Amino acid sequence: VSDFIEKLVEEFARFPGVGPRQAKRFAYYLLTRNEEKLKSFTESLLKARKSVAHCGSCGRLSVKSGKTSLCAICADASRDKTLFMVVAHDVDVESVEKSGSYKGYYFVLGGMVPILDEKPEERVRVSELKKQTASRTRDGLTEIILALDLNPEGEHTGEYLKTLLSPTVAGKNIKITLLGRGLSTGTELQYSDPETIKNALKNRASV
Ligand SMILES: [Zn+2]
Repeated sequence: VSDFIEKLVEEFARFPGVGPRQAKRFAYYLLTRNEEKLKSFTESLLKARKSVAHCGSCGRLSVKSGKTSLCAICADASRDKTLFMVVAHDVDVESVEKSGSYKGYYFVLGGMVPILDEKPEERVRVSELKKQTASRTRDGLTEIILALDLNPEGEHTGEYLKTLLSPTVAGKNIKITLLGRGLSTGTELQYSDPETIKNALKNRASV
């Protein structure tokens, strides 16, 4: 196998949920396409990439809208400034929005903090979160909702965030809450149905 092919396989192996065997299948599939098809594939990829940017506030990937660096949610001044929800991934925002039961703002961590991880700040957007939280505490914030997956990694991430954010909210009458147990153990937020998320939000509790 040439170095080029190996490199291609490595690229696919970095995809979420893709193992080494599947990565190899993807790579070999692409290699059987003709060059015209590959060219149009890479062009669509680049065009799609150019059309999106990370929101300057919540950090999620959203379609660029010209003048603002904010996504549609962060740019919407009519949302509830008292609520700030921290989620792990972009897709979690979509799931919560679909539930229609949350009208506050978001922050996307960009991942979770694995148990025993020694450098969480290199894995998730820690300093940006602290900055955003501090600025929201001056703008009417009353509650930070940690909306994480209900698995050991999610629990660990919640503990980590609580410790991280406590000094920022101390003495300011801002509570930190966790989603209620409406979500069953092991559930990932992105796969939860709107009704479940609605209940989990309704039953959230201070940590
Ligand atoms: Zn945003």
